[in-house]
Amino acid sequence: MKSYTDRAVVIRTWPLGESDRIVTLFTREHGKVRAVAKGVRSAKSRISGLIQPTSELDLLLYRGRELDVIQQASLVQAHLARVGVEPSQFGSALEWLEAIDSLTLDRHPDPVIYELMNRGLRLMGDEPGPFLLGALLVRLLDIEGYAPNLTVCGLCGAPGSFAAFDFASSAPRCSGCGGEPVGSEILAKAASILAHRVSEVLTDKDARGGREFEAFAIRLVKEVVGRGLRSTGVVASLLEPQATQNQPS
Ligand SMILES: [Zn+2]
Repeated sequence: MKSYTDRAVVIRTWPLGESDRIVTLFTREHGKVRAVAKGVRSAKSRISGLIQPTSELDLLLYRGRELDVIQQASLVQAHLARVGVEPSQFGSALEWLEAIDSLTLDRHPDPVIYELMNRGLRLMGDEPGPFLLGALLVRLLDIEGYAPNLTVCGLCGAPGSFAAFDFASSAPRCSGCGGEPVGSEILAKAASILAHRVSEVLTDKDARGGREFEAFAIRLVKEVVGRGLRSTGVVASLLEPQATQNQPS
């Protein structure tokens, strides 16, 4: 059987040729999959409106050697691919999906990530808050085994609360061991997420603190990805230079 059904969220899309798109999907049962959606850029396509980042779809796919082919698609939920969503909200959702893309390998099923991805998109649509994206990213790093140990200095092992961080080794630094200054409240927020006290972080409505926490979490993700986790599939590396992100229409 070369065809299979699965449920998936559209992570990103690229134009291919005159009328097709390549779609990165995070599927519930097959993990991250790249597929071709044929004819979706022509006006006659019945599914073009569905192939949008953040949309959750039920799909019939044909298993190809490198790229699968989307044969049928129906909408489960649009998440943020809908009219009336703030551009900043949509931007956060794309950042969230991009982190999932860069921290997961192709065709590795991960139902925990699938559930977290959907929960994150739902919260971004329904009750976005300043700490939401940062909290999701720290949780994602934790699930994937890349969360920092925030209880001891990464260099000398001294315990305590810290106000500096070494991103290259993803570890805090005590006052005697250098590192970049990072607000102790930011590290405390990350520690709360890692201790599964997520709600006490999400109820904080401080916009500036949220931006700083988000920047910290994005930097953590980028450092992990920079250390070489990213899957270097032939298709991905060929497509990366022309990557474009869609806005919902
Ligand atoms: Zn130290």
